[in-house]
Amino acid sequence: MATSTNRRHRIAIGGILFEGNSLSPVRTTLAAFRSKYLKADGEIARDLANSGTEMAGALSVLEACDCEIVPLIATHGGAGGKVTAECWRELKDMLVGRLRGRWPVDGIYLALHGAMICEGTDDAEGDLLEEIRGFAGDVPIAVSCDLHGNITPKMIRHADILIGYQLYPHDDGPETGQRATGLLIRTIEGAIRPTMSLCKAPALYQSQRQRTKGDTPMARFYRVARAREAAGRALALSYFPVQPWLDVPELGFAAVAVTDGDPAAADDLARTMAAEGWTHRDEFRVGLTAPADAIRSGLALPGHPVILVDAADCVGGGASGDSAIVLAQLMRHAPEASAAVLIVDPETVAQAAAAGAGATISVGLGNKLDPAYGTPLRCSAKVLRLFDGNFRYGGGVMRGDTASMGPSAVLQIGAATVLVASLSSYEYGDEQFAAGGIRARDCKFVVVKNPMNYQQAYEGAAGFFLLDTPGPTTPNLPSIAIPRAGRPLYPFDDGFTPRYPVFRGRRA
Ligand SMILES: [Zn+2]
Repeated sequence: MATSTNRRHRIAIGGILFEGNSLSPVRTTLAAFRSKYLKADGEIARDLANSGTEMAGALSVLEACDCEIVPLIATHGGAGGKVTAECWRELKDMLVGRLRGRWPVDGIYLALHGAMICEGTDDAEGDLLEEIRGFAGDVPIAVSCDLHGNITPKMIRHADILIGYQLYPHDDGPETGQRATGLLIRTIEGAIRPTMSLCKAPALYQSQRQRTKGDTPMARFYRVARAREAAGRALALSYFPVQPWLDVPELGFAAVAVTDGDPAAADDLARTMAAEGWTHRDEFRVGLTAPADAIRSGLALPGHPVILVDAADCVGGGASGDSAIVLAQLMRHAPEASAAVLIVDPETVAQAAAAGAGATISVGLGNKLDPAYGTPLRCSAKVLRLFDGNFRYGGGVMRGDTASMGPSAVLQIGAATVLVASLSSYEYGDEQFAAGGIRARDCKFVVVKNPMNYQQAYEGAAGFFLLDTPGPTTPNLPSIAIPRAGRPLYPFDDGFTPRYPVFRGRRA
């Protein structure tokens, strides 16, 4: 045993998470990672032990098992356009450099996303694992991924164990870290001999029916996977309905089964789960409504709030969060109705700050960071409030984390209250509005820019409308241009029989 102390095992832990979006023209740099979290060495235990991240769970298991923890780096860059080649090189150097410098270890746990795309590579996670495997020899590597990861044969080939989040919203970050690390320790101790298979189904789904609670096809996948694990057939059975806005080969739904020394069972479990993904594909479909129709229908509904879901501008999926398209429609079709809207526009924040609270300014709001989908909304705005944009996440993988929208302004534009932020931030619930002093639930309309979390955040709302708006995270999947993804691929194609290719891991 390669231990420098009298602890049982020496385990390296780290993570690099980023969700790529091929439809965003924005390039992602190290600043995006630093602005979420980028922890190295002792900072991982100091700052993430009580967080909603995978690292929290891994740390608790390793402490309980009396292991020596070898921290690398742990970081999350959110979601967005391709990571620059330079940023990817720096991140890899930080993680792999530390691992090489602290070698040998008895096991490695990495928290990855699975949908990271970088300049120069479509499969960042596969490349990273390949590089580590190149010097790690037979040292077990356990990996966890977001369930929106695009799992590739290369990732499976170089990891010993690969599991996904079980839940969407992703409220099980620590549990995922615990499960992966627990399997890793059992592997090192010879209690299990993991064999792993990946099977893919050529399908992409909208996010709205991916909630793992309630009457959704994802809740069904959850129940099926847990039942097979509970029956002892799988050490872990994971489903990956994949981030759809990726222009990469090998795109599609993935199922990964980890069994104890039974590769044939892993093949069978993965193939059966992938077939489930295919069979239930139509149950993920949700109709879209034109904004004007949604606003008119919403006005006719008694009570409030009516949730207008601008899923096409979802920061959590890689959009800029800067679209003012729905606000423009509200001003046109419901000028008297109260509304809460969040738009990322640092230029307008600076303008509001220069004018000061109470001032009325003429603005060109939004659609500047990503001008591909609309033009700025020209209007007059009253500056209600200026603040630092800091807030704390109430749940999800960022639970308890202090995050920032950067300097922010609350503007009154007609009957709407508009929170204008300098930096984009993922929407878990209504934390951003609350930080701006905006009581979104009291408004007639709330524009949300997340594809699914709103169902939980605004449970019991008077109405929900999924809007047909343009943007890099459009729920109108047949409209997206991803020519490099393999075909046939649902929903572009249907009425064919999938092949269900199975790829085995290195220990099969
Ligand atoms: Zn996800």
